[in-house]
Amino acid sequence: MRATIIHGAGDIRVENVPDPQLREPTDALVRVVQACICGSDLWPYRSMPPSEAGERIGHEFLGIVEELGSDVSGLHRGDLVVAPFVWSDNTCDFCSEGLQTSCRHGGLWARDGIDGGQGEAVRVPQAQGTLVKLPVTEDAALLPSLLTLSDVFPTGYHCAHTAKVNPRTTVTVIGDGAVGLSAVLAAKRLGAERIILMGHHKDRTDLGIEFGATDVIAERGEESVEKVRNLTGGDGTHRVLECVGLKEAIETAFAVVRDGGTVSRVGAPQYDEVPMDFGVFMRNVTLTGGVAPARAYIDELLPDILDGTIQPGRVFDRTVSLDDVADGYRAMADREALKVVVRP
Ligand SMILES: [Zn+2]
Repeated sequence: MRATIIHGAGDIRVENVPDPQLREPTDALVRVVQACICGSDLWPYRSMPPSEAGERIGHEFLGIVEELGSDVSGLHRGDLVVAPFVWSDNTCDFCSEGLQTSCRHGGLWARDGIDGGQGEAVRVPQAQGTLVKLPVTEDAALLPSLLTLSDVFPTGYHCAHTAKVNPRTTVTVIGDGAVGLSAVLAAKRLGAERIILMGHHKDRTDLGIEFGATDVIAERGEESVEKVRNLTGGDGTHRVLECVGLKEAIETAFAVVRDGGTVSRVGAPQYDEVPMDFGVFMRNVTLTGGVAPARAYIDELLPDILDGTIQPGRVFDRTVSLDDVADGYRAMADREALKVVVRP
């Protein structure tokens, strides 16, 4: 079968790889119907040293169950399923606590011999715990929104959820990428009435307004901090959802959070030290967030997507075939596309 291989920065290829096969009785084989490119896929796309062998890539996909191991129950051949970006047994103590990203028997896609999602098919370990059946057909118009359940929407939701956003909290979202826009949608769903979105791509912040943002701040740096303060009587907002991952973004987060408030970060941090200095300490600011256990939120978010209450799939603004996956990466890296669907 064919799958996406990254050979280094800017070097994405589609190559023939061995067909996946069941190895463990807990495995399933899934034929990929739609996959997508994640903002975090762009980090190796920008920085990976050249590699002759290359590595599989991709961790967001939905598809059709083609084969099931003997220990997998609750799923059937022909089921349309979505896979969260971490596979997990969904039964261990961490999974029971809703932290499937720390599963004792789980792991990441495209690592250690596990298939990546940007290919024609995937061997899914711990299939019963990992895969969630979607009660629609393969051609449903809902597919892009359902695809967001693998990562981007639950990641935005995790950001708002761990920050304890509610109808009494004002919120700032930092970042107008697909995760930031998902965080806006999540904050709205959790009842926030004032949602300030920081971002400087107008087409993206326009979608943010449709998702529930009440104010947009296009300025950068110190100016953006001042604007949030102006909008909030000088205090900042109760909650800040940091959806970028750069040091400048987390610094801005601490600068615009209200005393006693919470900063949640879900942007994969591209910095080693969190700038929580004495001043932040004196203001009793809490830092939360982290990698999102997408599996923990899918059952809760799925009904709202199925009945059309929310349309997180609107973050996709381009679809490419697997053959053109390299162009999908280029378009996202050049900020020509917000988020790209890949159809094998
Ligand atoms: Zn587990």
